[in-house]
Amino acid sequence: MKKKYGQNFLKDRNLLHKIVKSSDIAGKTVIEIGPGQGAMTGLLATEARHVYAYEIDTTLKPFLDQIEQEHPNLDIIYEDILKADMNRHGPAHVVANVPYYITTPILFNILAAQDIKTASLMVQKEVCDRLLAKPGTKAYNALSVLLQYQADVYKMMDVKRQLFYPVPNVDSAVIRIIKHETATLDEKAESRFIKLVKAAFTQKRKTLVNNWHQAFGIEKAHLETWLDAQGISPLVRAEALTLETFVRLAREWPHD
Ligand code: SAM
Repeated sequence: MKKKYGQNFLKDRNLLHKIVKSSDIAGKTVIEIGPGQGAMTGLLATEARHVYAYEIDTTLKPFLDQIEQEHPNLDIIYEDILKADMNRHGPAHVVANVPYYITTPILFNILAAQDIKTASLMVQKEVCDRLLAKPGTKAYNALSVLLQYQADVYKMMDVKRQLFYPVPNVDSAVIRIIKHETATLDEKAESRFIKLVKAAFTQKRKTLVNNWHQAFGIEKAHLETWLDAQGISPLVRAEALTLETFVRLAREWPHD
């Protein structure tokens, strides 16, 4: 058991079955991230067309060798998923119980990889709340907006900490991400949207105008007049803006 790899293994067969069944992978290509001792890997291979399982820790090989032998459609790849190209297996679906310190980079990689169509991800309960958060709540942040822009996101199930060994000190949830087939914004407006959203939430207690002024060096008076013309109060904070408003502002933004 390696502490540095964030290893908490799932031990509840019912839960594992439920995750696999709800991930809708029959006949599809699956990328499993962090198979560990393979608790879910065989179940995935039974259901999917092919499974590519990425595991960073080669000391788990004795557990995984056996499962690999039982399933000709399973390849275990001993690589760091953060260094792998997620597009290399063609259209694919991610299923992952990953250590929580890599949840955010993995999420960004999933969003950036064209060939990843859906993902079922075990995340810390608080992260789940943030990813699903709606405007006006404390949990709402840049990642909520960026994720909800690109995908439909919902909670598949809550997972109590006692279902892992060793028992971690947080509860978890499995979220389901279904990426949109087509982009809402064209490429240029989309990169503007990402830039605006990230800057808007830099300091949550500051107003939108202050954050954008800091990030882009545009005069506050200009920003205020422009927001007013968009029907938005110049005193607003990012957390009050809906996804649709951010999209509209990205379309109209005059300062490229
Ligand atoms: N899926 C297994 C289960 O549910 O029992 C194991 C879950 S454990 C929380 C996370 C697994 O991810 C560990 O086996 C760990 O070694 C692996 N891991 C950690 N960082 C990784 C990375 N960057 N790339 C691939 N696997 C990684």
